[in-house]
Amino acid sequence: MTNNLDVFREEVEVWVAEQFPKSLVGSTMGLEGETSEEAKADFELWRQRLADKGWGAPTWPKEYGGAELSDAEAKIISQEMGKQGAFNPIPLMAGMGVTMVGPTVLEYGTEDQKARHLPGIASGKIRWCLGLSEPNAGSDLASLSTRAEDDGDTYVINGQKIWTSGADISQWCGALVRTDSSVGKRDGISFVMLPMDQKGVSTKPIQLISGISPFCETFFDDARTDKKELLGPLNEGWSVVKRLLQHERQSQTQARSPSASSNKPSLQELAKTYVGVDSAGRLDDPDLRVRLIEHLMDVQSHSLTVGRITEEARGKVEVSAAASILKNSATRVAQGNSELTLELMGNQGVGWEGENFSADELSNVRDWLWGKAISIYGGSYEVQNNIISKNILGLPETTQKG
Ligand SMILES: Cc1cc2nc3c(=O)[nH]c(=O)nc-3n(C[C@H](O)[C@H](O)[C@H](O)COP(=O)(O)OP(=O)(O)OC[C@H]3O[C@@H](n4cnc5c(N)ncnc54)[C@H](O)[C@@H]3O)c2cc1C
Repeated sequence: MTNNLDVFREEVEVWVAEQFPKSLVGSTMGLEGETSEEAKADFELWRQRLADKGWGAPTWPKEYGGAELSDAEAKIISQEMGKQGAFNPIPLMAGMGVTMVGPTVLEYGTEDQKARHLPGIASGKIRWCLGLSEPNAGSDLASLSTRAEDDGDTYVINGQKIWTSGADISQWCGALVRTDSSVGKRDGISFVMLPMDQKGVSTKPIQLISGISPFCETFFDDARTDKKELLGPLNEGWSVVKRLLQHERQSQTQARSPSASSNKPSLQELAKTYVGVDSAGRLDDPDLRVRLIEHLMDVQSHSLTVGRITEEARGKVEVSAAASILKNSATRVAQGNSELTLELMGNQGVGWEGENFSADELSNVRDWLWGKAISIYGGSYEVQNNIISKNILGLPETTQKG
């Protein structure tokens, strides 16, 4: 018997086959290398087709650029795209927009804020960054000192943010600022949205060990934003950002490296190629075999847990503190995969450049280095464990005070 989801799957399959430009199959979404003029035009055509269909942010309301689909339908879209070598570039193009700012604006925003900001995110035309961390406020985010002062119709913002992903290429920033210094540190914080293209904002990219520079130091020197850009009530930014961070962790439950793609060989295939097999056809290293199996069991239990939570919520996943559990298990899986791949490849796995290394080997070492960031961004592994012990297990707070 065919159900509605099967019918939907068939429709998606046909639509992707007709609309996805074949020239983009296998493309890395502009993450690596040179892009020809022709590829750029096809890329733009595909972005526009997805945006018109509301599939850039498919679960959002139609009036804000989405398609009002269920999580189950959104998953089918990404599965069917994957099968045909297609992809949805809009979440990447919108920076922190689709996964974090957008869902938080949907919950806390005024009608005016939703109407002005969400369509630009859902179409991938406006990129957002997030100015939360500061040099002296990372895990202890509530210690932030960037301040916003009331100046009639606007706020004037001064201070420094750090690790601001995509700040140098974003048009808008969601920033956490201090609006009252006379109260407890979590009580005097507000969440404001500000345009990046203005005299008072400057950015300085920071290079990562993997060779890329995904984030910046961001400086606010008398930067301004209109008061209508305050998201949620004044001085209640801590509640807004806690919610935003849950959305961030939720989006990281499938944590992957930037160049990960479904057509890469599996770990088992790599193991057979690099380590070889014994006379019984088993991986020719018993210790590695056991660790590989343990890792594959981790992968399977993570994916079953994500599936169970989705199933229990009948396709409508509520973002909650449980996102911290999933973020940490996704981190274990992603980093475990990189470590094992590196080990399997041996010397071939640690090449940085040169003809002796294949493209997969070179990208693997970059993935491995990039993957170190997964247990830091979105709140570190240890901080997630603190959240799990306090908010899920109900253990007493022993560390973060204030
Ligand atoms: C790739 C990447 C992208 C990022 N993008 C952004 C962005 O776009 N916007 C933004 O605002 N920030 C961003 N960040 C910053 C990120 O949120 C912070 O790095 C993170 O919250 C940790 O803060 P910190 O670096 O100041 O480390 P610290 O808070 O100084 O922590 C250092 C170490 O101490 C441990 N630690 C700290 N407190 C505790 C505690 N209470 N209990 C146990 N252990 C503890 C941590 O786990 C960590 O191992 C990004 C980071 C990375 C790596």
